[in-house]
Amino acid sequence: MEHPAQARLRRNKELRRQRMVEARKKGTHTTEQWEALKAEFGHVCLRCGRQGYHLDKDHIVPVYQGGSDGIENIQPLCAWCNAGKGPDATNWVAIRREEREAGVPHHFEPMKQAKR
Ligand SMILES: [Zn+2]
Repeated sequence: MEHPAQARLRRNKELRRQRMVEARKKGTHTTEQWEALKAEFGHVCLRCGRQGYHLDKDHIVPVYQGGSDGIENIQPLCAWCNAGKGPDATNWVAIRREEREAGVPHHFEPMKQAKR
């Protein structure tokens, strides 16, 4: 007999897997596209500008809200920004490209301070 908590974990895992299957039907991306996107912005977090940290693949429209897994719905964010973003669907790729085209410097949001 499976423990209820274990059954819940298994169902959540299955739900996430199913959502990714749906997201990939809408669009997919290659490792090359992901690396090119990070390189385009100098490997910084597109929200806070933090450099030198691992960048997460953030889905701009979250997968659980029907977002695609295509490169147009993916942006590099540091773990802090990704964890703190909640339902925010700001497209930082579009914002940083607009800033670049307009010749203005990037206005990065101050990074979130870790709670002590
Ligand atoms: Zn960040």
